[in-house]
Amino acid sequence: MNEINVPLLDLRAQYRSIKDEVEEVILKIAESQMLVLGPEVEKLEKSLAEYSGAKYAVGVSSGTDALLMALMALDIKPGDEVIMPTYSFFATAGVVARMNAVPVFIDSNPISFNIKPDLISQAISDKTKAIIPVHLYGQCADMEPILQIAEAHNIAVIEDAAQAVGSQYKNGKTAGSMGLIGCFSFYPTKNLGGFGDSGMITTNEESIYIKLKQMRNHGMEPKYHHKFVGGNFRIDAIQAAVLNVKFKYLDKWHQSRRNNAALYDSLFIGEGLAARNGITQFDNNNKILLPKAAWKQYGYLNYHIYNQYIIRVQKRDGLRQFLADNNIGAEIYYPVPFHRQECFGYLNCNDSDFPAANRLAEETLALPIYSELNKEQIEYVVAKIKEFIA
Ligand SMILES: *Cc1c(COP(=O)(O)O)cnc(C)c1O
Repeated sequence: MNEINVPLLDLRAQYRSIKDEVEEVILKIAESQMLVLGPEVEKLEKSLAEYSGAKYAVGVSSGTDALLMALMALDIKPGDEVIMPTYSFFATAGVVARMNAVPVFIDSNPISFNIKPDLISQAISDKTKAIIPVHLYGQCADMEPILQIAEAHNIAVIEDAAQAVGSQYKNGKTAGSMGLIGCFSFYPTKNLGGFGDSGMITTNEESIYIKLKQMRNHGMEPKYHHKFVGGNFRIDAIQAAVLNVKFKYLDKWHQSRRNNAALYDSLFIGEGLAARNGITQFDNNNKILLPKAAWKQYGYLNYHIYNQYIIRVQKRDGLRQFLADNNIGAEIYYPVPFHRQECFGYLNCNDSDFPAANRLAEETLALPIYSELNKEQIEYVVAKIKEFIA
């Protein structure tokens, strides 16, 4: 076999495909020297609101700041409790702790990797102010029961849609439009990634929208008059300009990722390494547990945008090393769930309350899934995995 290289992500490949357009808008920003907020930001806000089906969108400095601002907009106080999955990127929990509020962790669904809704009710107390479902890896959390529980207890739902721009839930609703507030990240590794850090908040509530717009500029309205303490959560014009260019290609890139995922699925099944999706136990026909068809067994499918393609495998760390030795990038998301993080030791979580997340932390491996991958590269990845398992 020829030498094949398969990085986990190749941002330069995407850049090459839109280089001229991107360089043109960057030069325009350079000429205008309107570097923060401005017309490109307004254009991006309008596009994202429309795309996600929310009424309003506010461009901000990062996905993490979007989550922090959501909590600030809800006036989360020290000691308030906020429910979230234990298995996610750190920002989801970090922002809650930074507000001196209490993160309350929930175990995951081992098929979808998302929060397990039937465990939420028992975690609710009279201090619970919000639930943050995370649409992990680009697939929507099971929002229907989550929204029901939240409504019954009068609790706000903040969607962490950082990995899920354009993901759709089974009912066709889009990530960021289902809860009270939706939070997006445009970190370069997300499906819609800028030339640095930035993010976006969506909401259908006008009062929250107005508050967020003031908050991103120190709560200032009018100039040098401060109704409340906000921060500098502004987004750079250059980020918005680049994202406006990329936005046109987003659905095409999603579709390429989905095609790549389907090819992985069929190759793993064809090689006898996986029987079908939605299996949670390893056996001779299931050496690899595939992602995706989380809900197929219930008769419906989410529109998954595959920010990551995550398999579960035994001897995961050995496989990752073997792939690295064969020039294939693979990454572990996330090796340490929140309940095991040193910084949350003070919460005294009971490790045995999180059996699914603990298994995911040991078994999940992200394979290259980016849009520009070719068939030969995907076949090479599957062949090498087969070689390791044999
Ligand atoms: C990326 C990410 C964030 C944070 O976004 P940044 O723009 O990097 O601050 C939050 N939550 C999840 C699930 C993420 O993947």
